[in-house]
Amino acid sequence: MLRAVIFDLDGTLVDFNLDIKRIKREIFGFDAEQPLLEMIDTLAPEKRKEALAKVVEHEVSAAKRAELKPGVKEVIKSLRSRGIALALATRNCRQAWEIVAERYHLAFDVVVTREDTEPKPSPAQFLLTLKLLRVSPEHALAVGDHAFDYLAARSAGVKIALLDNKFSSAYLNKADFVLHSLRDLEGVVARLCV
Ligand SMILES: [Mg+2]
Repeated sequence: MLRAVIFDLDGTLVDFNLDIKRIKREIFGFDAEQPLLEMIDTLAPEKRKEALAKVVEHEVSAAKRAELKPGVKEVIKSLRSRGIALALATRNCRQAWEIVAERYHLAFDVVVTREDTEPKPSPAQFLLTLKLLRVSPEHALAVGDHAFDYLAARSAGVKIALLDNKFSSAYLNKADFVLHSLRDLEGVVARLCV
């Protein structure tokens, strides 16, 4: 039985369209394959603080322009009507989430951001979310658009529905469910609720 759905934020509920290459160049002077937050983790504490402040600046500015993805409101309403707990677990900062939440009148039972615990692909954000919801992993479904959502879900033992895009392509064949749009989630949830 499905008791909780944990959404990712950027690329899943909204599009931030962050220019990560540009942010990396601003902070480090070069672009690199390694993900931004993990690059920042290698810095000394003072530099790390400065770098994170710069990332927050970009995220906040992106949150002010971010577009809600099609179907979000309808899907949330439908899940709520089934009595399913709804949560958010994101690598983004809390301030960016709060801006999006206010702009689009979104509310979740639990919201876990990168300030709360080690971000995805670690399972920590999902495990904290589930602890706060008092739901066990086998009764939860994660929804995301990135390899990190897949990896975090697998480590936490929750099912994963992946949106089909360039960041998730390598994991689509391993995901429990593939979504071409968030609207496909209603069918997945209906199957998990029988
Ligand atoms: Mg994402």
